[in-house]
Amino acid sequence: MRSLRLICYFVAFTTLCASGQQPFLNALQWAALREESSGAAAYENLRYLTGLHRVPATPAYDQAAQFVLQRAHEYGLADAHSEQFAIDGTRQYGLMRSYLAWTVEEARLWEIRPEHLLLGDWNTDPIHLADYSHSADVETQLVDVGNGASEDDYSGKDVRSKIVLADGVLARVQELAIAKHGAAGIVSDMPNQTTAWSGLDPTIVRWGHLNARQPSGFAFMVSRQTADALRSRLRSGESVVLNAQVKATVGPGHWTVVTATIPGADPAAGEIVYSCHLDHERPGANDNGSGCVTILESARMLARLIDSGQLPRPKRTLRFIWGPEVEGTMAFLATHPEIKQRLRANIHMDMVGGDPFKNKSVFHVSGTPWSLPSFVTDVGAVFLDAIRTAASAYAAGETSADMGIVETRAGGQGTRNELFADVTPYSSGSDHDDYDSSTVAVPSLYLRDWPDIYIHTDHDSLDQIDATKLRRVALLGAASGYVYANITAQQLPTLLPFLTAQAITRLAQAFGLAQQLVDDPQLDAGVAWYEARNVVNQTLQRERATLHSILEFTGGAAESDADGAKVLADQATVFQRWLDAQAKLRGAKGPAPSVPWTGDPDAKRVPIRIGEFGPLTYQNDNVLLARLGKERYAKIKLINSGATQLLNVRDQSELYAYEIVNFVNGKRTVGEIRDAVSAEYGPLPVNLVTDYLDACAEARVVRWK
Ligand SMILES: [Zn+2]
Repeated sequence: MRSLRLICYFVAFTTLCASGQQPFLNALQWAALREESSGAAAYENLRYLTGLHRVPATPAYDQAAQFVLQRAHEYGLADAHSEQFAIDGTRQYGLMRSYLAWTVEEARLWEIRPEHLLLGDWNTDPIHLADYSHSADVETQLVDVGNGASEDDYSGKDVRSKIVLADGVLARVQELAIAKHGAAGIVSDMPNQTTAWSGLDPTIVRWGHLNARQPSGFAFMVSRQTADALRSRLRSGESVVLNAQVKATVGPGHWTVVTATIPGADPAAGEIVYSCHLDHERPGANDNGSGCVTILESARMLARLIDSGQLPRPKRTLRFIWGPEVEGTMAFLATHPEIKQRLRANIHMDMVGGDPFKNKSVFHVSGTPWSLPSFVTDVGAVFLDAIRTAASAYAAGETSADMGIVETRAGGQGTRNELFADVTPYSSGSDHDDYDSSTVAVPSLYLRDWPDIYIHTDHDSLDQIDATKLRRVALLGAASGYVYANITAQQLPTLLPFLTAQAITRLAQAFGLAQQLVDDPQLDAGVAWYEARNVVNQTLQRERATLHSILEFTGGAAESDADGAKVLADQATVFQRWLDAQAKLRGAKGPAPSVPWTGDPDAKRVPIRIGEFGPLTYQNDNVLLARLGKERYAKIKLINSGATQLLNVRDQSELYAYEIVNFVNGKRTVGEIRDAVSAEYGPLPVNLVTDYLDACAEARVVRWK
């Protein structure tokens, strides 16, 4: 032990004694990146962004974009510029319909009788005005409509020209209270996040969004505490009169996207793209000022190290994009098909700076969906491990602050925290969904904090941010992107064995799940047998494709992953044999389980993607709903599924829907797609897949071969 430590100290003088970053970077490259990384620079940039109410297509959002552009110039990035994309509510970017812009001059809500109280003022606290509120000047009574999102909430109540107090989904309350029953506006304490300890702190004010496509209405957001006090006064028979003044317009405008690059040595070798989302309500420190300043810091580090010759210029170009969430990504990719075609891998940061002791978050490196297996996750996982190990060593007093990647510079003094982090499967909910979707097919390394008790509230402030965490994630992002940009086929003899070992680990984990499935008492023995084998089969295919992804990425020789593929296949064969024996023990009959969709003629049909690119849902658009209408949409079994008590569809219908369409490649049958998504998210009846794809065909997103 002592001698090992001595060796480490000795090695540290010449290179350094951390091997966690192997096999992707050598120790000198890693040390150069670590030393250049700064959490203070990112923290100071975040200080500026958190002062801006960055709702997309608003003047304050553009001010944030201007700031990022200025920094990109200062940091010496190439081709730094901003682009504007016209939006009018109908114009298409890929499959996505554009949304609308919003300008606010002022907005105030007062209680004027019996108390005289200011309940919200745009100038000092813009979060109080729900996004896409329209102009108003009213003095009227407040009426409690409970949740306000269903017709029953209005029976026996006269809300015409009054302001309703409601905590239901805001756009739905707008539709019923304002459009249908003639109310003037809304006071809301809608919990826009119902997970992540929502409701823990009743003094928090949450964001609200009205539907910008609706022609009228306004809403003011108040805390649960304020709303409950109003409710109890109304219940006791008090008449509460409010005065609301809003000067605002909703209409056509533009989204702004900032982009810049670090040019690669080989213009034909493609690009690695860093993304984040620059929008969100003030302060929006973790969500997502943190991701914006952290990709900016990765950019600064890489530009400086490459320009000074400390790191060789990578083969591939590094691109950085700051835009409104999902919408900016779609607008940019639709406008630049030549860039879209050049993209090879994505690093997406959305919420990466939380101090876990304050916002109760865990940092996650999340993988690609099963429809897009890729080695990119393994690269991120290696650097995560290196940083986590270094952070633990520092916390235990075994290494210096700099080796522990702690931020000690003035400005953003960081914590000494360990890095609470893990590697998780794909998780949806940000721009990476677009990159990972099959018609873009750029595998994404998704970096994120989750949960965060302050998400989408006025408490998501700089106080919750740790400069040490920003430094560590900037390093993780810079190192991963540099590897993606620089990796070549010459490294395959080292990388393939490493990646094969990771793949075997995951296959073994899948076997653990399959063992539970084969004994699942809720399933018939034969069905359980089939589903368990399916998990191992699909995992094997996924892992072989993961290995193969690095050959395609580097242009390596076609057979160079043959050893790895054989090891995986042999291992899977043993696992299947064990599953067969376990199934027999609980009474399964026959030489092999029967395929659940074998007699269904629909299961043999083959769908093909057609038309524009992109996934089918966006935060402000839903392709099937828009194209098929409410009535038809409500009949899609997968999405509106009380239809299946069979197994764990539950709240996962959106994930199934995303992956069903991703697995469509013109070769897989409906039955094969059913098996693929069943391994990923749990067994699904094949008729739900057919029914969903039929709806996609009606919407002209797929056609039947
Ligand atoms: Zn976000």
